[in-house]
Amino acid sequence: MHNPVIDILNDVYEQCRPDTAGAVADYIPELSRVDPDSFGICLATTDGFVYEIGNVGTEFTIQSISKPFTYGLALADRGVAAVAARIDVEPSGEPFNEISLDPDTERPRNPMINAGAIAAAGLVVGDSAEHRFERVRQCYSRYAGRQLAVDEAVYSSEAVTGHRNRAIGHMLRSFGVVDDADAAVDLYFRQCSLIVTGRDLAAMAVTLANNGRHPLTGELALAPELVERVLSVMTTCGMYDAAGAWVTSVGLPAKSGVGGGVLAVLPGQLGIAVHSPRLDEHGNSVRGVQACGELSRRLELHFLHVP
Ligand code: GLU
Repeated sequence: MHNPVIDILNDVYEQCRPDTAGAVADYIPELSRVDPDSFGICLATTDGFVYEIGNVGTEFTIQSISKPFTYGLALADRGVAAVAARIDVEPSGEPFNEISLDPDTERPRNPMINAGAIAAAGLVVGDSAEHRFERVRQCYSRYAGRQLAVDEAVYSSEAVTGHRNRAIGHMLRSFGVVDDADAAVDLYFRQCSLIVTGRDLAAMAVTLANNGRHPLTGELALAPELVERVLSVMTTCGMYDAAGAWVTSVGLPAKSGVGGGVLAVLPGQLGIAVHSPRLDEHGNSVRGVQACGELSRRLELHFLHVP
């Protein structure tokens, strides 16, 4: 059956495909082993339809796209007030890995930069490191609608080279934002190394769009009253230091990761995932940003668009 969404997806895919600008992340050595040409777009709706084109089954690590999901878990575990006492919700305008705290509040500015994400990982409840990570993995798996696994090679690669994140962890410890710096950083490295596909990310996005419930499995991944807070910080802080340009041109809560994934959410309606590993100077997927911009324009998805 002819479907206009599929036509638009095809058009956008063909339009963006020739663009080979940008470079694959290599500061985590293992990340440089991905296929730079891989490109896939997947769109899932809250009423259960999935549209896809390209390499939507290619596996890659979730990286920073993990941040909103662990933040949501920390909110569920500790409550909004306790999390807000340690992590603010203000855009920083700084690169994701900035070693900084807000000088007035002595908190990380938001949970979408590494400082805030490591602080959120430090708030996940569990009896042991294994238990805490298992809770994170199960939580993400509920969003994805299938069991996710860790890429051990990427995890080891980041664990060996992630000195900057360790520095952030210890800075957080010195200000009392985390209780155990090494445990928080290690959990953060593990969550970043969870393997997803474009299809998984679209499922995770549409679960947020569907107020925290996976449209097909029916499982609740996040309480509806917390979804709004997660989507709010994604809107203002999700796209690194290009968050302002993103909101202006795409107008959707979103999160990107250095693995080349981009996830965007239209609350109540749909989730979009794009995977293309070449990144721009901010760390965002070049074709991911371009494809989301085109989809937003063609499908009129900008949340401030008046039909
Ligand atoms: N694990 C990566 C780091 O902390 C994630 C970075 C990202 O995707 O922005 O360096």
